[in-house]
Amino acid sequence: MRILVTGGAGYIGAHTVRQLLAAGHDVTILDNLHTGHRQAVPAERLVVGDLRDADFVDALLIQKRIEAVVHFAAYAYVGESVTQPARYYTNNLLYALQLLERCRRQGVARFVFSSSCATYGIPTTVPIPESAPQQPVNPYGNTKLAFERALADYTAAYPLGGCILRYFNAAGAAADGTLGEDHTPETHLIPLVFQAAVGQIPFVTIFGTDYPTPDGTCIRDYVHVEDLAAAHVLALDAIQPGHCRAYNVGIGKGYSVREVIRTAEDVCGRTIPVREGPRRAGDPPVLVADATRIRRELGWTPQYEHLRGILETAWNWHRRHPHGFRAPADR
Ligand code: UDP
Repeated sequence: MRILVTGGAGYIGAHTVRQLLAAGHDVTILDNLHTGHRQAVPAERLVVGDLRDADFVDALLIQKRIEAVVHFAAYAYVGESVTQPARYYTNNLLYALQLLERCRRQGVARFVFSSSCATYGIPTTVPIPESAPQQPVNPYGNTKLAFERALADYTAAYPLGGCILRYFNAAGAAADGTLGEDHTPETHLIPLVFQAAVGQIPFVTIFGTDYPTPDGTCIRDYVHVEDLAAAHVLALDAIQPGHCRAYNVGIGKGYSVREVIRTAEDVCGRTIPVREGPRRAGDPPVLVADATRIRRELGWTPQYEHLRGILETAWNWHRRHPHGFRAPADR
């Protein structure tokens, strides 16, 4: 398949590009490199550009004779979405709708969308099935849900097929240690834990110790980034014209913040300095996927079923690349 991957130089995007290429697909990456990394993708596949320019996107769809789009490009900081909703509605919704419309006009047959468990808001049942009510509690989740609806409506009306993947917590790094997580600023728990382990930051703060969970800290479902990438490859093959299916992508097991820190200490053999702090706004106490649908319908089988294995790959990446994709001098 000839596939356009927007945001393909980002964390999940780059792992997916690698697997799509390995599966024999013809991949074009569109990335503005605001948060993506040139070093994370093959140079000859990368087009540096912005979704803001719909005519440019159109020309790319035509020139590369694109048959399928995997749409990652988006902003993904929940807290920032609360203070700067305009950025999120413009980038995550407006530009995504422009892209979808150009895909329709150019006859693109398949569209895979990166959605999020943030569309569920504060879940009423855990583990969360795809049929659970979607009531986001922040602008980020609202933009993801709004686009989910648009994609479903488009596929109902036009000869386009869609797949919505609702990610839980992406984590870990490529097994060979050559790709991994590198955000600036880094806000995610696992990279911060390893930064604290090696003294790059003085400590990691636990956001809230008074949640209604066994140890008082938030519980999340951490899914390995390569397993997440594999879900996109399966989704592309399974898409049917006129249909749009949504899948949770998580391993279906929850780990608390304290469990993550304890397991990370075990993995790296160091003590991780910790401070206890207040809750972070917008964090539901427990987010765990019911991922039976993707296992059953797409045959998705995660290679990493436990947190420890995921953390080992993250630690391996961090040790080899303490400054991410850039050399220390560039930071
Ligand atoms: N978290 C924390 N300290 C940090 C960063 C995150 O305690 O410095 C917690 C956060 O409250 C959440 C979990 O770790 O419960 C995972 O957060 P992360 O930012 O990694 O992913 P998110 O759940 O926001 O996608």
